[in-house]
Amino acid sequence: MATEPKIVSASTLVTTNPATGEVLGELSCSTPDEVRASVLRAKAAQPQWQATPVRERIQILRRFQQLLNERRDELARLICREAGKPTAEALVTEISVVLDTAEFCIRRAHNFLRPQPLPHRNPAMKTKRGKLVREPYGVIGIISPWNYPFSIPAIETLAALITGNAVVLKPSEFTPLIGLELERLLHAAGLHPDLMQVVMGEAPAGAALTESPIDKLIFTGSVATGKRVGEAAARRLLPVVLELGGKDPMIVLDDANLEIATSGALWGAFMNAGQTCLSVERCYVHRSLYQPFLALSRDKIARLRVGNGLDSEVEIGPMIHGRQLQIVEAQVNDAVARGARLLAGGKRLSELGPNFYAPTLLADVTHEMRIMQEETFGPVLPVAPFDSDEEAVRLANDSDFGLAASVWTRNRRRGEAMARKIKAGTVMLNDMISCFGIAEAPHGGFKQSGIGRTHGELGLHEMVQVKYVDVDLVPGMPKVWWFGYGRKYQQQMEGFIDLLFARRWTAKLRGALRAAGLPRRSNRI
Ligand code: NAD
Repeated sequence: MATEPKIVSASTLVTTNPATGEVLGELSCSTPDEVRASVLRAKAAQPQWQATPVRERIQILRRFQQLLNERRDELARLICREAGKPTAEALVTEISVVLDTAEFCIRRAHNFLRPQPLPHRNPAMKTKRGKLVREPYGVIGIISPWNYPFSIPAIETLAALITGNAVVLKPSEFTPLIGLELERLLHAAGLHPDLMQVVMGEAPAGAALTESPIDKLIFTGSVATGKRVGEAAARRLLPVVLELGGKDPMIVLDDANLEIATSGALWGAFMNAGQTCLSVERCYVHRSLYQPFLALSRDKIARLRVGNGLDSEVEIGPMIHGRQLQIVEAQVNDAVARGARLLAGGKRLSELGPNFYAPTLLADVTHEMRIMQEETFGPVLPVAPFDSDEEAVRLANDSDFGLAASVWTRNRRRGEAMARKIKAGTVMLNDMISCFGIAEAPHGGFKQSGIGRTHGELGLHEMVQVKYVDVDLVPGMPKVWWFGYGRKYQQQMEGFIDLLFARRWTAKLRGALRAAGLPRRSNRI
């Protein structure tokens, strides 16, 4: 029997190991009042954190980074036990990514937060000096999913903290222990406990956080929930970043390296049991490579090791819970009923545990099938042929989603030209998903895949409000644009505008004379 979602009552949640069904813990859900109280505590603590010199904030991140590195094996095992992914994958795609993000924040913080001079071009404004200053919002609410239960909330939390915000995090109800571990590490690193707090629960706790007096919300999850969160936020004009679902296409051009492209496709579709927002969800292969691509993929799938990720030889773990497994099954069944060919998998592996689904290869899929339109979020690689680059781009763009895409070719220029035509937040050539591990690279989607960005410098920008500060260098001088209007004033202003914007130099000269208050040559007879 696949495991069902882990909530047992409105006030308690039980977290289990998706590979075995073993109960890992039982936690109380936060009430709306408790969520609000956490946010108010964070609000009270934040101004002092904002006033703390950046170098001291950096020291806390540095200590967090060291502690995380020391405890990485223990944490990788917890991630494996609560979220199901193999420990090696937890190390590479969660822990190492967070260590690198900490390094990025540490190295970037001073420059990013330094006031930025804004020189004025207009001569009328030369007596002023302007600058941009970046100030924290206050309290950032973070609502996160279960599929990257450590890296997603950690990356957002580090960006929020280094820029001077406090954080209240609601982790997924399926991975609460990992959320608590992030809180524990930051507190152990010396962060004031009120500056990073975790609240617990499922949708009601998330809704309570959205309604609480947070100053900005970073939400990561499905499109359906993202829309609900967006509506609630719009009612009070709460700024939000929405990191939502994907249906990422992989395009294999006729000059691609087949050996590399097939290995890439399998990792892209099956890592984390296909439960990655950046997973390969659709694969389009040039007709000249289509049959060999399918044959090679099928051979390689037979060699993949599925099982409990605590075994270091295992490459693919279980899915998170039975409901997700049913969605995948329904989509695969729909595709097969509409004429897709099942070349591998397509079945549960109940002998391994409650939530295992075999890595699945589907050929001859079409866009009438749900598997090519809806997010699958499971270990399925659906493949379709195409005949021209134009057709591949059209198929890739035929989606409500636009998170990321990949193009596989030996010709970099051809690949980059195609990347420019694909409507997605990221396009990678000859790789996928690894953009998430590039600390400098922004992450976010086009279309229904979301609004705003996390990661990299654009992710830091989402954590600050930009303030423009302007200083007058001659405060004792009245400004020419103040009251005192009249005919002469109007002529002077017209002259000034000509001086700046007339195209011919003679008109500019006449403008300068009028601006200075002298009569025009034609009036001086
Ligand atoms: P989900 O939308 O079911 O839940 C996400 C979070 O929202 C959870 O913490 C949940 O408790 C909370 N929530 C549920 N209802 C809420 C409400 N009404 N108000 C506030 N919060 C609420 O998503 P999931 O199943 O946890 O995660 C999988 C989805 O997340 C997939 O669609 C995947 O593509 C997406 N995802 C996107 C990214 C990205 O960066 N774009 C990354 C990872 C996952």
